[in-house]
Amino acid sequence: MPELVDHLAELTGFRDRALLDVTLASALRDLLRPRSLTVFRSVGDTGHERWLNCAHLAAGDLAASADPSWVDIDSLPLRSADAARLEAFLRHDVVTVAGSPHRSVFPLTTDRAVVGVLEVESDAPLDEKERRLVASILRIYSNFEALLDYSEHDSLTGLLNRKSFDESFMKAAAMPPPSLLLDAPGRRGQNEAGSHWVGVIDIDHFKRVNDRYGHLIGDEVLLLLARLMRSSFRFHDRLYRFGGEEFVVLMRCQGAEAAAGAFERLRRNVEAYAFPQVGSITVSIGFTELKVGDTPSGAFERADKAVYHAKGNGRNQVSSHALLVASGQLVEDDKVGGIELF
Ligand code: GH3
Ligand code: MG
Ligand code: MG
Repeated sequence: MPELVDHLAELTGFRDRALLDVTLASALRDLLRPRSLTVFRSVGDTGHERWLNCAHLAAGDLAASADPSWVDIDSLPLRSADAARLEAFLRHDVVTVAGSPHRSVFPLTTDRAVVGVLEVESDAPLDEKERRLVASILRIYSNFEALLDYSEHDSLTGLLNRKSFDESFMKAAAMPPPSLLLDAPGRRGQNEAGSHWVGVIDIDHFKRVNDRYGHLIGDEVLLLLARLMRSSFRFHDRLYRFGGEEFVVLMRCQGAEAAAGAFERLRRNVEAYAFPQVGSITVSIGFTELKVGDTPSGAFERADKAVYHAKGNGRNQVSSHALLVASGQLVEDDKVGGIELF
Protein backbone atom coordinates (compact mmCIF):
# COMPACT_ATOMS: atom_id res chain seq x y z
CA MET A 1 0.00 0.00 0.00
CA PRO A 2 2.71 2.60 0.87
CA GLU A 3 4.37 1.69 -2.45
CA LEU A 4 1.11 2.43 -4.28
CA VAL A 5 0.68 5.78 -2.53
CA ASP A 6 4.29 6.70 -3.39
CA HIS A 7 3.62 5.94 -7.03
CA LEU A 8 0.46 8.04 -7.03
CA ALA A 9 2.32 10.93 -5.43
CA GLU A 10 4.97 10.67 -8.13
CA LEU A 11 2.40 10.37 -10.90
CA THR A 12 0.69 13.60 -9.93
CA GLY A 13 3.95 15.44 -9.21
CA PHE A 14 4.80 16.22 -12.84
CA ARG A 15 3.40 18.88 -15.07
CA ASP A 16 5.04 17.38 -18.13
CA ARG A 17 3.02 14.96 -20.24
CA ALA A 18 5.99 12.91 -21.43
CA LEU A 19 7.14 12.41 -17.84
CA LEU A 20 3.58 11.57 -16.83
CA ASP A 21 3.49 8.69 -19.34
CA VAL A 22 6.90 7.42 -18.23
CA THR A 23 5.87 7.60 -14.57
CA LEU A 24 2.66 5.73 -15.33
CA ALA A 25 4.61 2.97 -17.08
CA SER A 26 7.22 2.64 -14.33
CA ALA A 27 4.62 2.69 -11.51
CA LEU A 28 2.66 -0.10 -13.15
CA ARG A 29 5.81 -2.08 -13.89
CA ASP A 30 6.76 -2.01 -10.20
CA LEU A 31 3.26 -3.02 -9.14
CA LEU A 32 2.53 -5.73 -11.75
CA ARG A 33 6.00 -6.92 -12.77
CA PRO A 34 4.90 -7.64 -16.36
CA ARG A 35 7.15 -8.43 -19.34
CA SER A 36 6.56 -5.00 -20.78
CA LEU A 37 4.31 -1.94 -20.68
CA THR A 38 3.63 0.60 -23.41
CA VAL A 39 1.63 3.83 -23.45
CA PHE A 40 0.33 4.49 -26.97
CA ARG A 41 -1.45 7.66 -28.03
CA SER A 42 -3.61 7.95 -31.12
CA VAL A 43 -2.30 10.67 -33.46
CA GLY A 44 -3.04 11.93 -36.96
CA ASP A 45 -6.00 12.97 -39.09
CA THR A 46 -9.40 11.29 -38.91
CA GLY A 47 -9.34 8.08 -40.91
CA HIS A 48 -5.54 7.89 -40.88
CA GLU A 49 -4.85 7.63 -37.14
CA ARG A 50 -1.65 5.95 -36.00
CA TRP A 51 -0.13 4.75 -32.74
CA LEU A 52 2.59 6.90 -31.21
CA ASN A 53 4.67 5.11 -28.55
CA CYS A 54 4.90 7.59 -25.66
CA ALA A 55 6.58 5.33 -23.07
CA HIS A 56 7.76 1.74 -23.30
CA LEU A 57 9.36 -0.25 -20.48
CA ALA A 58 10.41 -3.90 -20.60
CA ALA A 59 11.24 -5.92 -17.47
CA GLY A 60 14.98 -5.10 -17.23
CA ASP A 61 14.97 -1.61 -18.79
CA LEU A 62 16.60 1.14 -16.79
CA ALA A 63 14.92 3.91 -18.75
CA ALA A 64 11.75 4.12 -20.81
CA SER A 65 11.98 4.47 -24.59
CA ALA A 66 9.54 6.33 -26.83
CA ASP A 67 9.08 7.48 -30.42
CA PRO A 68 10.90 10.81 -30.90
CA SER A 69 8.62 13.83 -30.82
CA TRP A 70 9.49 14.74 -34.43
CA VAL A 71 8.86 11.23 -35.81
CA ASP A 72 7.49 11.02 -39.37
CA ILE A 73 3.84 10.14 -38.86
CA ASP A 74 3.77 7.86 -41.93
CA SER A 75 6.33 5.57 -40.31
CA LEU A 76 4.05 4.80 -37.33
CA PRO A 77 1.74 1.76 -37.26
CA LEU A 78 -1.84 2.45 -38.35
CA ARG A 79 -4.40 2.45 -35.54
CA SER A 80 -6.42 -0.18 -37.41
CA ALA A 81 -3.39 -2.49 -37.74
CA ASP A 82 -3.72 -3.87 -34.20
CA ALA A 83 -7.14 -5.38 -33.49
CA ALA A 84 -6.84 -5.53 -29.67
CA ARG A 85 -5.65 -1.92 -29.33
CA LEU A 86 -8.31 -0.71 -31.73
CA GLU A 87 -11.07 -2.55 -29.85
CA ALA A 88 -9.96 -1.22 -26.44
CA PHE A 89 -9.82 2.27 -27.92
CA LEU A 90 -13.22 2.15 -29.65
CA ARG A 91 -15.11 0.21 -26.95
CA HIS A 92 -13.53 2.17 -24.04
CA ASP A 93 -12.98 -1.14 -22.29
CA VAL A 94 -10.12 -3.47 -21.39
CA VAL A 95 -9.34 -6.13 -24.01
CA THR A 96 -7.32 -9.25 -23.19
CA VAL A 97 -5.60 -11.55 -25.66
CA ALA A 98 -4.35 -14.94 -24.44
CA GLY A 99 -0.98 -16.08 -25.74
CA SER A 100 2.70 -15.86 -25.00
CA PRO A 101 2.90 -13.21 -23.78
CA HIS A 102 -0.65 -12.43 -22.61
CA ARG A 103 -1.73 -8.95 -23.63
CA SER A 104 -4.07 -6.69 -21.67
CA VAL A 105 -5.01 -3.46 -23.39
CA PHE A 106 -6.63 -0.67 -21.36
CA PRO A 107 -8.16 2.51 -22.83
CA LEU A 108 -6.56 5.82 -21.79
CA THR A 109 -9.14 8.55 -21.42
CA THR A 110 -9.31 12.20 -20.51
CA ASP A 111 -12.57 13.82 -19.40
CA ARG A 112 -13.45 14.39 -23.05
CA ALA A 113 -12.30 11.40 -25.07
CA VAL A 114 -10.23 8.25 -25.39
CA VAL A 115 -6.72 9.42 -26.27
CA GLY A 116 -4.75 6.17 -26.37
CA VAL A 117 -4.20 2.77 -24.80
CA LEU A 118 -1.97 1.19 -22.19
CA GLU A 119 -0.69 -2.22 -23.27
CA VAL A 120 0.56 -4.73 -20.68
CA GLU A 121 2.39 -7.89 -21.77
CA SER A 122 2.66 -10.55 -19.04
CA ASP A 123 3.50 -14.23 -18.61
CA ALA A 124 0.14 -15.00 -16.97
CA PRO A 125 -3.18 -13.20 -17.55
CA LEU A 126 -3.77 -10.29 -15.13
CA ASP A 127 -6.18 -11.35 -12.39
CA GLU A 128 -9.27 -9.40 -11.37
CA LYS A 129 -7.45 -7.56 -8.56
CA GLU A 130 -4.62 -6.48 -10.86
CA ARG A 131 -7.06 -5.28 -13.51
CA ARG A 132 -8.93 -3.22 -10.92
CA LEU A 133 -5.64 -1.74 -9.71
CA VAL A 134 -4.70 -0.68 -13.24
CA ALA A 135 -8.17 0.75 -13.87
CA SER A 136 -8.00 2.81 -10.63
CA ILE A 137 -4.56 4.20 -11.42
CA LEU A 138 -5.72 5.07 -14.94
CA ARG A 139 -8.66 7.02 -13.47
CA ILE A 140 -6.24 9.13 -11.40
CA TYR A 141 -4.00 9.51 -14.44
CA SER A 142 -6.88 10.73 -16.61
CA ASN A 143 -8.20 13.16 -13.98
CA PHE A 144 -4.72 14.59 -13.67
CA GLU A 145 -4.29 14.80 -17.42
CA ALA A 146 -7.62 16.64 -17.70
CA LEU A 147 -6.29 19.23 -15.22
CA LEU A 148 -3.09 19.58 -17.25
CA ASP A 149 -5.13 20.01 -20.44
CA TYR A 150 -7.18 22.72 -18.83
CA SER A 151 -4.18 24.68 -17.63
CA GLU A 152 -2.25 24.39 -20.92
CA HIS A 153 -4.95 25.28 -23.43
CA ASP A 154 -6.65 28.42 -24.64
CA SER A 155 -10.38 28.07 -23.98
CA LEU A 156 -11.59 29.70 -27.22
CA THR A 157 -9.51 27.84 -29.80
CA GLY A 158 -8.28 24.79 -27.90
CA LEU A 159 -4.70 25.61 -28.99
CA LEU A 160 -1.92 25.67 -26.39
CA ASN A 161 -1.66 28.87 -24.36
CA ARG A 162 1.28 31.17 -23.85
CA LYS A 163 2.12 29.73 -20.44
CA SER A 164 2.98 26.34 -21.94
CA PHE A 165 5.17 27.91 -24.66
CA ASP A 166 8.08 28.69 -22.36
CA GLU A 167 8.42 25.08 -21.16
CA SER A 168 8.33 23.55 -24.66
CA PHE A 169 10.69 26.22 -25.86
CA MET A 170 13.27 25.46 -23.22
CA LYS A 171 13.10 21.76 -24.10
CA ALA A 172 13.56 22.54 -27.80
CA ALA A 173 16.43 24.92 -27.07
CA ALA A 174 18.12 22.23 -24.99
CA MET A 175 18.45 19.90 -28.02
CA PRO A 176 21.99 19.75 -29.46
CA PRO A 177 22.57 22.48 -32.03
CA PRO A 178 22.01 20.89 -35.45
CA SER A 179 25.02 22.68 -36.95
CA LEU A 180 27.31 20.68 -34.65
CA LEU A 181 25.80 17.41 -35.80
CA LEU A 182 25.97 18.40 -39.47
CA ASP A 183 29.57 19.54 -39.32
CA ALA A 184 30.88 16.51 -37.47
CA PRO A 185 32.65 14.21 -39.95
CA GLY A 186 30.83 10.98 -40.68
CA ARG A 187 27.70 12.11 -38.90
CA ARG A 188 25.84 13.52 -41.86
CA GLY A 189 22.32 12.22 -42.01
CA GLN A 190 21.91 12.04 -38.24
CA ASN A 191 20.21 15.37 -38.30
CA GLU A 192 17.09 14.26 -40.14
CA ALA A 193 14.98 15.85 -37.42
CA GLY A 194 16.22 19.33 -38.38
CA SER A 195 16.20 22.40 -36.19
CA HIS A 196 13.53 24.35 -34.32
CA TRP A 197 11.69 27.36 -35.70
CA VAL A 198 9.31 29.87 -34.20
CA GLY A 199 6.67 31.59 -36.31
CA VAL A 200 4.36 34.43 -35.26
CA ILE A 201 1.06 34.81 -37.13
CA ASP A 202 -0.99 38.01 -36.93
CA ILE A 203 -4.32 38.53 -38.70
CA ASP A 204 -4.34 41.49 -41.10
CA HIS A 205 -6.77 44.31 -40.30
CA PHE A 206 -8.58 42.25 -37.69
CA LYS A 207 -9.95 45.39 -36.03
CA ARG A 208 -12.03 45.93 -39.16
CA VAL A 209 -13.57 42.45 -38.79
CA ASN A 210 -14.62 43.25 -35.22
CA ASP A 211 -15.82 46.73 -36.11
CA ARG A 212 -17.87 45.55 -39.08
CA TYR A 213 -19.24 42.21 -37.83
CA GLY A 214 -18.89 42.34 -34.05
CA HIS A 215 -16.74 40.45 -31.56
CA LEU A 216 -18.69 37.17 -31.78
CA ILE A 217 -17.99 36.82 -35.48
CA GLY A 218 -14.43 37.96 -34.76
CA ASP A 219 -14.10 35.14 -32.25
CA GLU A 220 -15.39 32.66 -34.81
CA VAL A 221 -12.68 33.80 -37.22
CA LEU A 222 -10.09 33.08 -34.50
CA LEU A 223 -11.56 29.61 -33.99
CA LEU A 224 -11.53 28.85 -37.72
CA LEU A 225 -7.98 30.14 -38.07
CA ALA A 226 -6.92 27.73 -35.32
CA ARG A 227 -8.49 24.89 -37.34
CA LEU A 228 -6.67 25.99 -40.49
CA MET A 229 -3.45 25.97 -38.48
CA ARG A 230 -4.10 22.42 -37.29
CA SER A 231 -4.65 21.21 -40.83
CA SER A 232 -1.70 23.15 -42.26
CA PHE A 233 1.01 21.95 -39.86
CA ARG A 234 2.23 18.51 -38.89
CA PHE A 235 0.91 16.72 -35.83
CA HIS A 236 4.08 17.24 -33.78
CA ASP A 237 4.27 20.99 -34.46
CA ARG A 238 3.11 22.92 -31.41
CA LEU A 239 0.42 25.54 -32.01
CA TYR A 240 -0.33 28.38 -29.61
CA ARG A 241 -2.69 31.29 -29.23
CA PHE A 242 -0.76 33.95 -27.37
CA GLY A 243 -3.86 36.04 -26.80
CA GLY A 244 -5.85 38.38 -29.02
CA GLU A 245 -5.36 37.54 -32.67
CA GLU A 246 -1.75 36.53 -32.29
CA PHE A 247 -0.76 32.92 -32.91
CA VAL A 248 2.59 31.16 -32.58
CA VAL A 249 3.99 27.93 -34.02
CA LEU A 250 6.98 26.07 -32.59
CA MET A 251 8.11 23.51 -35.10
CA ARG A 252 10.95 21.27 -36.05
CA CYS A 253 11.95 21.02 -39.69
CA GLN A 254 14.96 20.84 -41.95
CA GLY A 255 16.23 24.18 -43.11
CA ALA A 256 14.90 27.65 -43.77
CA GLU A 257 13.26 26.68 -47.05
CA ALA A 258 11.15 23.96 -45.44
CA ALA A 259 10.15 26.33 -42.62
CA ALA A 260 9.24 29.09 -45.09
CA GLY A 261 7.29 26.50 -47.12
CA ALA A 262 5.24 25.43 -44.09
CA PHE A 263 4.34 29.02 -43.16
CA GLU A 264 3.60 29.84 -46.79
CA ARG A 265 1.19 26.88 -46.92
CA LEU A 266 -0.73 28.32 -43.95
CA ARG A 267 -0.75 31.80 -45.52
CA ARG A 268 -2.23 30.38 -48.75
CA ASN A 269 -4.77 28.20 -46.92
CA VAL A 270 -6.02 31.24 -44.94
CA GLU A 271 -6.21 33.43 -48.05
CA ALA A 272 -8.20 30.75 -49.92
CA TYR A 273 -10.65 30.03 -47.08
CA ALA A 274 -14.15 31.55 -47.19
CA PHE A 275 -14.87 32.67 -43.60
CA PRO A 276 -18.68 32.69 -42.99
CA GLN A 277 -20.07 36.26 -43.37
CA VAL A 278 -16.59 37.81 -43.33
CA GLY A 279 -15.33 36.26 -46.57
CA SER A 280 -11.60 36.40 -47.07
CA ILE A 281 -8.99 37.37 -44.48
CA THR A 282 -5.21 37.30 -44.69
CA VAL A 283 -2.35 36.86 -42.24
CA SER A 284 1.17 38.22 -41.93
CA ILE A 285 3.77 35.76 -40.68
CA GLY A 286 7.32 36.20 -39.38
CA PHE A 287 9.66 33.36 -38.48
CA THR A 288 13.09 32.69 -37.04
CA GLU A 289 15.34 29.73 -36.20
CA LEU A 290 16.09 28.94 -32.57
CA LYS A 291 19.66 29.79 -31.61
CA VAL A 292 21.90 28.43 -28.89
CA GLY A 293 21.19 30.36 -25.71
CA ASP A 294 17.83 31.67 -26.93
CA THR A 295 15.08 32.59 -24.51
CA PRO A 296 11.38 32.28 -25.41
CA SER A 297 10.99 36.07 -25.44
CA GLY A 298 14.15 36.58 -27.52
CA ALA A 299 13.04 34.23 -30.30
CA PHE A 300 9.49 35.55 -30.15
CA GLU A 301 10.75 39.12 -30.53
CA ARG A 302 12.77 38.26 -33.66
CA ALA A 303 9.77 36.57 -35.31
CA ASP A 304 7.56 39.48 -34.24
CA LYS A 305 9.94 41.99 -35.85
CA ALA A 306 9.63 40.02 -39.09
CA VAL A 307 5.81 40.23 -38.76
CA TYR A 308 6.08 43.98 -38.26
CA HIS A 309 8.14 44.17 -41.42
CA ALA A 310 5.54 42.12 -43.34
CA LYS A 311 2.83 44.52 -42.12
CA GLY A 312 4.75 47.52 -43.44
CA ASN A 313 5.44 45.78 -46.71
CA GLY A 314 1.87 45.13 -47.84
CA ARG A 315 0.70 42.37 -45.38
CA ASN A 316 -0.44 38.86 -46.50
CA GLN A 317 3.14 37.56 -46.63
CA VAL A 318 5.71 35.43 -44.85
CA SER A 319 8.99 37.05 -43.81
CA SER A 320 12.13 35.45 -42.51
CA HIS A 321 13.99 37.36 -39.81
CA ALA A 322 17.36 35.98 -41.00
CA LEU A 323 16.74 37.05 -44.62
CA LEU A 324 15.66 40.53 -43.52
CA VAL A 325 18.86 40.88 -41.49
CA ALA A 326 21.01 39.49 -44.34
CA SER A 327 19.51 41.97 -46.79
CA GLY A 328 19.98 44.88 -44.42
CA GLN A 329 16.25 45.49 -43.95
CA LEU A 330 16.44 44.67 -40.25
CA VAL A 331 19.29 45.25 -37.83
CA GLU A 332 20.21 42.34 -35.57
CA ASP A 333 20.34 43.28 -31.89
CA ASP A 334 23.58 42.69 -29.98
CA LYS A 335 21.84 40.32 -27.67
CA VAL A 336 21.22 36.62 -27.45
CA GLY A 337 17.75 35.49 -26.49
CA GLY A 338 16.69 38.82 -25.10
CA ILE A 339 19.70 39.18 -22.78
CA GLU A 340 21.88 42.21 -23.46
CA LEU A 341 25.50 41.11 -23.83
CA PHE A 342 27.16 44.46 -24.59
P1 GH3 B 1 -2.80 44.73 -38.55
O1 GH3 B 1 -3.03 44.28 -39.95
O2 GH3 B 1 -1.83 45.85 -38.48
O3 GH3 B 1 -2.45 43.61 -37.64
O4 GH3 B 1 -4.18 45.34 -38.09
P2 GH3 B 1 -5.13 44.83 -36.93
O5 GH3 B 1 -6.41 45.54 -37.06
O6 GH3 B 1 -5.23 43.36 -36.92
O7 GH3 B 1 -4.34 45.41 -35.72
P3 GH3 B 1 -3.87 44.73 -34.41
O8 GH3 B 1 -3.24 43.41 -34.72
O9 GH3 B 1 -3.07 45.70 -33.66
O10 GH3 B 1 -5.26 44.58 -33.66
C1 GH3 B 1 -5.69 43.52 -32.97
C2 GH3 B 1 -7.19 43.63 -32.82
O11 GH3 B 1 -7.67 42.32 -32.52
C3 GH3 B 1 -7.65 44.47 -31.68
C4 GH3 B 1 -8.93 43.84 -31.23
O12 GH3 B 1 -10.01 44.49 -31.86
C5 GH3 B 1 -8.88 42.44 -31.79
N1 GH3 B 1 -8.90 41.39 -30.79
C6 GH3 B 1 -7.94 41.12 -29.88
N2 GH3 B 1 -8.32 40.05 -29.11
C7 GH3 B 1 -9.50 39.64 -29.55
C8 GH3 B 1 -10.42 38.59 -29.16
O13 GH3 B 1 -10.17 37.79 -28.26
N3 GH3 B 1 -11.59 38.48 -29.86
C9 GH3 B 1 -11.87 39.33 -30.89
N4 GH3 B 1 -13.03 39.16 -31.53
N5 GH3 B 1 -11.06 40.32 -31.24
C10 GH3 B 1 -9.90 40.49 -30.60
MG1 MG C 1 -2.01 41.96 -33.45
MG1 MG D 1 -3.55 42.11 -36.59
